[in-house]
Amino acid sequence: MNLLLASPAAAPGCPKLMHYGPCGGVSADGSCEIAPTPCVFLDRPTVAWPDAAEAASARPDPLLNGSLGAAPGPALLPSLSPGRRTPAGEEVLAIIRSRPLVMTGLPAVPMDSASIAACADIMRDSVDVVLSGDSGRARVQFPPSYRAELIRRNGLRAWLGVNCRDRNRVALEGELLALADAGVAGVHCVTGDHTDLGDRADAKPVFDLEGIQLVPRARAAGLLVSVAESPASPPVDRRAARLIEKAHAGAEFCLPQYAGETSDLARYIDEVRAGGVDIPFVAGVPVVIDRIGAELLASFAAAILPAGFIEGILDARDPFEAGIRASVALAEELLELDGVVGIAAAGGAQVGQELQFARALARIGAELGGGASL
Ligand code: SF4
Repeated sequence: MNLLLASPAAAPGCPKLMHYGPCGGVSADGSCEIAPTPCVFLDRPTVAWPDAAEAASARPDPLLNGSLGAAPGPALLPSLSPGRRTPAGEEVLAIIRSRPLVMTGLPAVPMDSASIAACADIMRDSVDVVLSGDSGRARVQFPPSYRAELIRRNGLRAWLGVNCRDRNRVALEGELLALADAGVAGVHCVTGDHTDLGDRADAKPVFDLEGIQLVPRARAAGLLVSVAESPASPPVDRRAARLIEKAHAGAEFCLPQYAGETSDLARYIDEVRAGGVDIPFVAGVPVVIDRIGAELLASFAAAILPAGFIEGILDARDPFEAGIRASVALAEELLELDGVVGIAAAGGAQVGQELQFARALARIGAELGGGASL
């Protein structure tokens, strides 16, 4: 069977060839991430996972072996117990069962193993796991599995972002198996930004799969799986349904895009639960220590920060200290929410300030109890 022919058809006009869209990049006015035209999914009903073509394409796939993910229904921590996991994945689950998980970004210079080692030296004792994902600043990066090995070698647990922009399904399946072999705790499955965004617009985008289709493949490889969702991005009234379908595909955690106030995230979690899915959230905590980092955060599609968050930091006499205080305060607030099992602190800083940003992440992680022995 030809897998490409069996794959679900892309919605006409979607530059990312998505079938289960929309992506998280829909602008506040409903326009496409990369074009001044409306996102083609605004008026389309949410596609349930799996659709008939997906089911037909699963059987010959060597990774899936006929399995298309978890059965629909509630999916909270008890469901995280069974299944094959990496040792690091088991450790992350053990942390979550005992206290909030402290995940942070890894602010290393792209393609610089010495920079990864230097950041790890600063962060190792203060964070539980680092998320190393796509970069808007540098589309060319070390492959995820090699980055994972560098992170592990330097004493940190790794959670790697995997996108569908740069690799077809064959390369992605190999990458997922390599990530499992490298011992990562989990993977963050995303469709990814289009190549028209970022610094390599000359590259041809792939989008053979989309984020939701990566999920069962990553589960089959023995990895914990997180997905993104953008509660504040149009169509806002169908963002809960979109996450529910990702949970049906087997997603175990949601790392939501910044959605505004803590009460906005609480409302979104309630909506998802009302749809019958109790997926745990690792809530995003923005970290800002300088003006360039603030501008970088502002460039994220559909990211809405709490009112006054940035201004309070940049207007402070010491933005570094003010940034740490603001992130810790927000994290503590988010961790009070039912359904939030951890935080993911991330952001960016001026080029050349990577180690200073790593110090900020380490301080935030330590204040939240991260990195403590099990
Ligand atoms: S916003 Fe995303 S999902 Fe919508 S048409 Fe554009 S690329 Fe496709």
